[in-house]
Amino acid sequence: MAEHPNVIKELGTIFSALSKNPALTPEKAQGLGLLGGLYLKAAGAHEKGEPTAWISFGIPPEIFWAMDIVPVVDLNLATISLIPGKVEKYIDLATEAVPDYICSTNRIPLGLALSGDAPLPNIWVVQNAPCDSIPGLDSAMAKYFGIPYYSVHVPYVNSPLGYEYTARDLKKMIAWVEGQTGRKLDVGRLKGAVQHSSRAHELMLKIREMAMLVPTPCSLNENRLAYTAMIQLAGTPEVVNYLQMIYDRAQDRLSGKLPYPIQEKLRIAWIYTVPTYSPGLIVDYMANEYGAISLTFMLNNMLVPPVKGDLDYEEMMLWLAQKVCNMPMTRECRGPWEVYADSALDLVQNYKADGAIFSGHTACKSNWAAAKLVKDKILEEAGVPTLNLETDFIDGRVTPGEAVRDQLIEFMALIQRNKRSREEKNQAASR
Ligand code: SF4
Repeated sequence: MAEHPNVIKELGTIFSALSKNPALTPEKAQGLGLLGGLYLKAAGAHEKGEPTAWISFGIPPEIFWAMDIVPVVDLNLATISLIPGKVEKYIDLATEAVPDYICSTNRIPLGLALSGDAPLPNIWVVQNAPCDSIPGLDSAMAKYFGIPYYSVHVPYVNSPLGYEYTARDLKKMIAWVEGQTGRKLDVGRLKGAVQHSSRAHELMLKIREMAMLVPTPCSLNENRLAYTAMIQLAGTPEVVNYLQMIYDRAQDRLSGKLPYPIQEKLRIAWIYTVPTYSPGLIVDYMANEYGAISLTFMLNNMLVPPVKGDLDYEEMMLWLAQKVCNMPMTRECRGPWEVYADSALDLVQNYKADGAIFSGHTACKSNWAAAKLVKDKILEEAGVPTLNLETDFIDGRVTPGEAVRDQLIEFMALIQRNKRSREEKNQAASR
């Protein structure tokens, strides 16, 4: 009987090898190296019989690093899609068991589990947000595969009371993880992890400000893996070094030591996800054909303030709870429509974008429900057009790169006209 591959180990080996490619920029190479290292650590822990955890993208990895448990974000196994032709098998296998309107990022772990190609974790910690896809499918999968499961509760909207509620639940979660794994949380180690995480979040905010400059010294193309690194490696010194390198290179561009990413003519904010497939027909195409630089996407818009001073246990829990509620996608994809609309508008205005692209997953029901309202609000309040693009950002078969490119051709012409007309109006007003 053929042995199953261990996809987590394979990803670790492939990303680590890719990170040594001298043709890659340091931003891309180090991002891949971090991811490869994480997956190799997770595979190694499994081989040694140490506890392993899958977590959702808002659950604080700091707690797991402080307990010596390698946290792998199950939904982020979607990074398999960075290797062409590898993800479809798992999405298709999952779609034999659940409908295709369940988020494909959720269906990938299901496909991996059904195929037997990834070792299952000892525990699974998820959140009840931002959407029904995560608690719905993950809890059913946990039951089916017999994985002990804990769901952290995140209130519908953010408030100080809500943060306290989530902080209490995080403490219960820690007790549960201790009971399941026998690993005790060392508060001293948690302090260290929170300090590293705080510095990493501070750097994320500084990189964000850099990316807003015109012209931008930071492109999404270079920095896209920052989100992936933060949701799993926040709390480690490695992610701090990686973000510091991104920040320093942006500074070097400002001071003329390094060239800018491209000669920008148009500025694009991806107000939701960005397709991982067909870069040559999407992000690179826009840059090469139109000088359109992709500045950021919703997931890199990490608005978690660093900690102030030396926090005690209760204060750390409260900070981590605020973090859970404000991590990208958790912040924007739950609650009433204005929450997402305001954050998308902020993105467009702060980054001085000429065009916004909502690359919406078919599974993201709440954001699709508001998509037209958001588009109208951005046009009314920022004067900027939005392209509502129906995609699955991982599965290129849903809207192939050629189809996206065809929509981009029309959209680029629209934003070029819109930009000219805004500039003419501004010139007339200043006369
Ligand atoms: S909000 Fe959308 S992309 Fe995010 S997990 Fe839910 S369905 Fe998937």
